[in-house]
Amino acid sequence: MTAPTIAQRRQQRPAQINFPESNIEHDPNWRTRALCRDFVDDSVWCPEEPGQSRFAKAICNGNLGGPACPVRDQCLASALSRKEKFGVWGGMDQWERARLLASRTG
Ligand code: SF4
Repeated sequence: MTAPTIAQRRQQRPAQINFPESNIEHDPNWRTRALCRDFVDDSVWCPEEPGQSRFAKAICNGNLGGPACPVRDQCLASALSRKEKFGVWGGMDQWERARLLASRTG
């Protein structure tokens, strides 16, 4: 059995998500409001080097002329809580999240 792609994991049912203790309002259905649901190309969401994450981050952060993703905070909190190793989540790529986690643990 192969591991699910990033795109498939974005479609996972909310019950499969381990949501962190967080001050972000918990909405178990947050993925239904994700802007990335319309962008299922893994090459966009799973960069192999930092420079390749620009387009995905622009979708998350509303830098393409539209609004930011309405569930960006939940998405980032979820990725941080499960120490997601790959892909762009919540407007941050894996390298940015790794630096953020490292800075928290000091
Ligand atoms: S913040 Fe980005 S990765 Fe997260 S749900 Fe929104 S569009 Fe998708």
